[in-house]
Amino acid sequence: MQHLVDTNNFSDAQITQLLADAKSFKTQCPPKLLRDKLIITLFFEASTRTRSSFEVAAKRLGAAVVHLDPSRSSTKKGESLEDTFANLCAMEPDGVIVRHSKNETPQILADMQTTPVINAGAGNYAHPTQALLDLFTMVEHFGDVQGKTIAIVGDIVSSRVASSGIRLMTRMGMHVILVAPEQFMPQSDLPQYEKLEDVMDKVDVIMSLRAQLERHETELFEDYDDYARHYCITKERMQDRDILLLHPGPVMRNIDISDEMLEDPRCKVLTQVKNGVFMRMAILKLLLLDS
Ligand code: ASP
Repeated sequence: MQHLVDTNNFSDAQITQLLADAKSFKTQCPPKLLRDKLIITLFFEASTRTRSSFEVAAKRLGAAVVHLDPSRSSTKKGESLEDTFANLCAMEPDGVIVRHSKNETPQILADMQTTPVINAGAGNYAHPTQALLDLFTMVEHFGDVQGKTIAIVGDIVSSRVASSGIRLMTRMGMHVILVAPEQFMPQSDLPQYEKLEDVMDKVDVIMSLRAQLERHETELFEDYDDYARHYCITKERMQDRDILLLHPGPVMRNIDISDEMLEDPRCKVLTQVKNGVFMRMAILKLLLLDS
């Protein structure tokens, strides 16, 4: 039984297969490969894109999907996470997709070895399907990402998108540089910059990130207008440079990325969302059918 807690659960050959499957699902109408499968989603944190993307992906491949809303479940009556999960597994799903505020939750559930567990975002530790769809979007654009340089800009310390992304992108041979005010900068051996201006001529990709206010125990940044003056990705900063602009969403308009840049063809935010469905189809196929 294979799980997806983070992308290191996949071999290089499996990542190559995922990219190939996502591409083929994007170019031709996918067969109903998961016709007999049932998937349960269990989201303990808010989600717009990831949950609906998984549901669309599963349904496009013919699977049935059941959602459990923990805010209306026995979690409210004091049932433990492990007991809720064991009860769902007793209904014999073919996989459970879980999002949780605690970093270790997907691994704890995976270790129960009852059904494939797919991490849809855990604390600030990992968001592997986002990392894989970002990789797919970059591979689609560049062909090969080896040797390309990406700057991750924003609240890196609190971001599971950054954590999973850094692990996967460095594994793929990309150069990753971090750009943030010191409150948002993690401990890291990667090159670190405080000023966006200092990296604009070095990068092929910028990944902008939202401030993860819900994860801050104290106020890390007082004035987000001031933050935006230094870190918002605007046309003045981008000029006519050939830089791909990514953001996992939700985008804080005119703080993370300006309205004008969101309309610019170099901005791939909605392409990421579109590609997310194809990559998640590939991931479901791998975990539910091929493993
Ligand atoms: N949607 C992403 C996540 O769940 C990024 C974000 O919320 O800022 O981590």
